[in-house]
Amino acid sequence: MAGTAVRGRLNTWLTATVGTVIEETARARTLRLEVPGWAGHRAGQHVDIRLTAEDGYQAERAYSIASAPGEPLAITVELVDDGEVSPWLTREARPGDLMEVRGPIGGYFVWEPGLGAPLLLAAGGSGVVPLRSVLRGRSRAGSTVPVRLLYSSRSLDDVIYRAELDAAPAGVEVIHALTRSQPPGWAGYARRVDKRMLAEVAWPAAPGDGASEPLAYVCGPTSFVETAAAALVDLGYPPVRVRTERFGASGR
Ligand SMILES: Cc1cc2nc3c(=O)[nH]c(=O)nc-3n(C[C@H](O)[C@H](O)[C@H](O)COP(=O)(O)OP(=O)(O)OC[C@H]3O[C@@H](n4cnc5c(N)ncnc54)[C@H](O)[C@@H]3O)c2cc1C
Repeated sequence: MAGTAVRGRLNTWLTATVGTVIEETARARTLRLEVPGWAGHRAGQHVDIRLTAEDGYQAERAYSIASAPGEPLAITVELVDDGEVSPWLTREARPGDLMEVRGPIGGYFVWEPGLGAPLLLAAGGSGVVPLRSVLRGRSRAGSTVPVRLLYSSRSLDDVIYRAELDAAPAGVEVIHALTRSQPPGWAGYARRVDKRMLAEVAWPAAPGDGASEPLAYVCGPTSFVETAAAALVDLGYPPVRVRTERFGASGR
């Protein structure tokens, strides 16, 4: 994509029509958006969504792109109980509803098949959304780069894309941490992500190994991202090899 074309689109609001709606969990759903004029996106990017009420009141929020490059645009939204925008997107939006979308946005929290490095993906809650785009993008590109996804959720029922992650392709390991409740017999992690957990799960840091040096993508509520990114740096990951995306406040 030419840089000028991307810059031009960033300020342009496009009309999006809600297509298929997929209930991912009791609190999260994926909305496929039909956007005439959408020029495509890269894995890890996000969009701004703008809603307009009948009285003209507008609200705008950022949402990561859930679909792979080459797939139609999709977002996955998790309900924030006292929120303004997410309750409408997760409870009210129906196929045929209209909203506006601006993007794609982001050039740093982006994955390209040519990067080559083993990937450590760390997600807290809906932070898994852009990482799902990375996983799907990896498959579509035929990449065999090894991936470990460490995914923190409150409970098994809160795991977004659970069936898809259970069927992860060769070379992709998914490690769950369930912070609030665990099913009977759960043998996995049952606490928040911390340095000890990352020491067990993450690829060993290999500073100076060039393109084969592990690359980390950390995404979720701000507190989750700061804890996980600091732990990776403590474990020897150079800060430039830890890419972060913060979703904002959370009681998680
Ligand atoms: C780059 C980027 C990408 C994002 N991608 C996604 C995504 O893929 N899926 C997704 O569900 N959300 C995502 N978010 C968060 C999203 O933009 C909204 O902040 C979220 O949906 C809450 O909006 P709201 O209008 O419902 O709540 P608001 O009315 O904005 O907030 C209501 C209350 O919830 C708290 N709050 C705000 N944001 C969050 C949050 N993220 N988690 C918990 N509490 C919060 C506020 O402090 C406030 O107390 C992303 C944010 C950023 C910056």
